[in-house]
Amino acid sequence: MNKITNHLPTKELQALDAAHHMHPFTANGDLAERGARVITRASGVTLTDSDGIKIMDAMAGLWCVNIGYGREELAEVAARQMRELPYYNTFFMTTHVPAIALAKKLADLAPGDLNHVFFSGGGSDANDTNIRLVRTYWAQKGKPSKQVIISRHNAYHGSSVGSASLGGMTGMHAQGGLPIPGIEYIDQPHWYAEGGDSDPEEFGLERARQLEAKIADLGEENVAAFIAEPVQGAGGVVIPPASYWPEIQRICDAHEILLIADEVITGFGRTGNWFASQTYGIRPDIMTIAKGLSSGYAPIGGSIVSDEIAAVMADCEFAHGYTYSAHPVSAAVALENLRIMEEEKLVEHVRDVAAPYLKEKWEALADHPLVGEAKIVGMMASVALTPDKATRAAFASDPGTVGFICRDRCFANNLIMRHVGDRMIIAPSLILTRDDIDTLIERATKSLDETYAQVKAKGLLVAK
Ligand SMILES: *Cc1c(COP(=O)(O)O)cnc(C)c1O
Repeated sequence: MNKITNHLPTKELQALDAAHHMHPFTANGDLAERGARVITRASGVTLTDSDGIKIMDAMAGLWCVNIGYGREELAEVAARQMRELPYYNTFFMTTHVPAIALAKKLADLAPGDLNHVFFSGGGSDANDTNIRLVRTYWAQKGKPSKQVIISRHNAYHGSSVGSASLGGMTGMHAQGGLPIPGIEYIDQPHWYAEGGDSDPEEFGLERARQLEAKIADLGEENVAAFIAEPVQGAGGVVIPPASYWPEIQRICDAHEILLIADEVITGFGRTGNWFASQTYGIRPDIMTIAKGLSSGYAPIGGSIVSDEIAAVMADCEFAHGYTYSAHPVSAAVALENLRIMEEEKLVEHVRDVAAPYLKEKWEALADHPLVGEAKIVGMMASVALTPDKATRAAFASDPGTVGFICRDRCFANNLIMRHVGDRMIIAPSLILTRDDIDTLIERATKSLDETYAQVKAKGLLVAK
């Protein structure tokens, strides 16, 4: 095998990167000064950078490398598919074997009557599909006024115009004239940040009932759908109180609206079931998928829809699709990824081995003086940093100041943890062993200790 090697020293790579590469979600001026870390190889859960330093990736890339890095089988399948049929579209009364096989496989894996797949290149465009799909669905059913989609503040559904509008992130709405019309928002079930002195389960019910109030407010005849992540990911791994999803499901059952579960992060084993809808007892009409579908080895996403939606949509030509919908190489890679997950019983490994052990270790981080809560479901977890554990106070400094320090300490300790404001989050590959988990927790604890010392020394240990 030819190995791809670096021909340039790190400094030169960084200078070229700064000169020509615009990074997503990045202040590129700041980055140019610091220099981006150049990742050159990866295997298992370990990245190697251009200086040869090995880093444990506790984020599975961007929540996607569920089966870990360096799986030869996926490279083989991609090469084979590229030789056989590198590309063909599925627009004009044609199809191909990888698309057929993957759609059938997803229909088998998805719960309930979610049996039909519309493919995209990733999560953002899948949610763009969903916006047009649910509105077209209701128009087809003779109810064209049902157009409004209800979402939640601080939700993340992608970064395109449509999907960022579906999301509830104010920083994203502030750029580029978002949101588009016809999206409404209710509050998130984020007890730690917004629950005050309330009982968490009461708070969960209250937040769920905002959906019912919003439907009443807008008029049920105007509402097309409610969309939510079963567990908010980019919002900070916000795990809802147990009372939340049953109440949301009750409300969706009681009203004529569609329920879209955005499972882009939570799908494909992350919560210890194939889908978090199974973990939380959600019965969605549409599921958004991407990320773990191919373990990030090739870009692919989609919407899995119910028999009823597919039947209604079959009566019209949906004027929608992407050049790379069901891309044969991506579809073949996704199929092989799912085959490996089944063969190696990765979902069972999460449920029975990795997640219970990680939970035990992760929840113990709540004893750290800097940690206000440590929450986990399956293989996604968060800790909230606070200057005052008793009151769950925020820091007086700008949100994210302390989180950024902690992320830097993690980097220094060869651990990739991400910060969302002053929350630290992980979503590691599902293949973690107990030894990996010990290493992760050891590095996380060291990073928290060092953050605590720095924050104290800088006088930042102050409540807002
Ligand atoms: C990442 C993400 C998306 C967007 O997916 P892309 O592939 O980046 O377009 C959508 N929804 C959720 C919940 C996500 O985490």
